[in-house]
Amino acid sequence: MEIVVLRLGHRLERDKRVTTHIGLVSRALGAQGLLLAAEDKGVERSITRVAKRWGGEFFVKTGVRWRDELRNWQKAGGKVCHLTMYGANLHEVIDEIREAAEDVRTPILVVVGAEKVPFEVYETADWNIAIGNQPHSEIAALAIFLDHLQRGQELTARFEHAELEIVPSRRGKEVVVKEEE
Ligand code: SAM
Repeated sequence: MEIVVLRLGHRLERDKRVTTHIGLVSRALGAQGLLLAAEDKGVERSITRVAKRWGGEFFVKTGVRWRDELRNWQKAGGKVCHLTMYGANLHEVIDEIREAAEDVRTPILVVVGAEKVPFEVYETADWNIAIGNQPHSEIAALAIFLDHLQRGQELTARFEHAELEIVPSRRGKEVVVKEEE
């Protein structure tokens, strides 16, 4: 599946940590990249540093224009999934989204907000999806959505060309430091 996350409404300083976590969750749970509709090189650097050390292919692009991204995404045949507590319940729509996403010609753009999301996003999205109809967190909403979309398979994915790799263990910590290839 091709999945990219678009973060809207990022406020410099105030949202730094949450947006960094949006990037880390996106990468760890199977998305290929993060588009940030604000300029924040600090956030970009933090996520890119983690991606370099822990492997896999993950891009971060800051300063994007969200309206153009949505338009171009849909023009190219992709679908837009906007996470909002006002949307349709995840269980109601996840099967049709997964069916669309399993076709390689249909990349998925997942939109998460910070402050108030413009109504145009609700109108443009192919699905407005609620991870329950209660207010909570964009990080939690994103994680649950990505996990349901991929039926949990992303949790066992391998990240290629990692400098660091964890050896899973029930007790203690084991990390392998890889040699440069
Ligand atoms: N008040 C804002 C609005 O009117 O859009 C939302 C603020 S909320 C803290 C930030 C983001 O978290 C939302 O834009 C949405 O992406 C996500 N979010 C929060 N609760 C959610 C839920 N129950 N389902 C899906 N997404 C949720």
